[in-house]
Amino acid sequence: MDESQSLLATARARLEESLLAKGLRRSSERFAILDEVYSRNDHFDAEDLYEAMQQKSYPVSRATVYNTLELLVECGLVQRHQFGDEDNVKSRYEKSLGRQQHAHLVCTVCHRVKEFCDPRLHLIKTNVSNSLQFQVESHSLVFYGQCTDNDCETKPIDSHVRE
Ligand SMILES: [Zn+2]
Ligand SMILES: [Zn+2]
Repeated sequence: MDESQSLLATARARLEESLLAKGLRRSSERFAILDEVYSRNDHFDAEDLYEAMQQKSYPVSRATVYNTLELLVECGLVQRHQFGDEDNVKSRYEKSLGRQQHAHLVCTVCHRVKEFCDPRLHLIKTNVSNSLQFQVESHSLVFYGQCTDNDCETKPIDSHVRE
């Protein structure tokens, strides 16, 4: 079993556990959604996920995609980010098992998301928690700006039809 397969097996086991705990049906749709999430390396929104499931010609309703995503966030298998400002918050998701702590760069023109890791962030966290006697549990750091991808200006923003 390679690493991504064993991650997926762990993720499936955790989903199964939390479905049992909540008394929810262990439907194949939910596991298909989990598989799709764990096959991606991007920061997607719920509509991206819904569209990906349609392309697999899987009969998964929008409601199932949305509530499964919610469930995956609750059981720690998916991380939700709220990018943007108060007036225009966008929820983006990414798988969380097997991922290193990282920070994000969000392009305000094409909305692409990039990641970076910098060990200095860990140092800041340690220094701050020592000097202010504060137990840091998590943090998020997002830089907003414009990327230099060739098609940044022309990439259609939010091409999805939203309901
Ligand atoms: Zn990320
Ligand atoms: Zn861009």
